[in-house]
Amino acid sequence: MPARGRFQGFSLVELLVIIGIIAVLTAILMPVLMNSRRAAQRTVCISNLRQIGLAVRMYRDDYQELPPYLSAVRVYAGDLRLFVCPIDPLEGKHQVRDTLGDSFRLEGDFYLPSGVSYTYVPNWAIARLLGWWQAGPPYGEGKWSELTPLSECHWHWARQFNPTWQTDRISGARGWVLILTLNGAVRRVRAEPPPDEFTPERYY
Ligand SMILES: [Zn+2]
Repeated sequence: MPARGRFQGFSLVELLVIIGIIAVLTAILMPVLMNSRRAAQRTVCISNLRQIGLAVRMYRDDYQELPPYLSAVRVYAGDLRLFVCPIDPLEGKHQVRDTLGDSFRLEGDFYLPSGVSYTYVPNWAIARLLGWWQAGPPYGEGKWSELTPLSECHWHWARQFNPTWQTDRISGARGWVLILTLNGAVRRVRAEPPPDEFTPERYY
């Protein structure tokens, strides 16, 4: 007799095997997908910082000094989304004050309601103590002139802004800080070294 109705669906063992194969494939593919997503986000961030760098240079050409805070260059930047890093968990809407200074290192949404993810190194009290920047504006030329850090994105290693990050090593810090320098280039440094050990030789 032909085996009518012989196909009864999958047996339990077959189902378990299929589920197992799917689980293994997912485990293999997830890190790859996550990595490519983070790489894409990093690319957007680097592009943001480069365009902000251009805007800062235009501002400096017009006013002969650096801006008092980062989003002061927004009319030169055009798209306000440039100020937000895609990894920033609060999308730039931070309320943080540099605890050692009287100006904002990370302005958040204080000046620009749509938010700013990036810090402004000339306003960072540590950067002034270490002589990277004079108090300003005009802030001077910067300790390493065109290679002096101007802005940074640290959301690629940190989930929270650390306003007191200074001479101590940041516990558990792993990853990269993206740094916009005064000449408009975007470089990166490892998050581990404390700022007082920073020199442009640490750029990658
Ligand atoms: Zn970023």
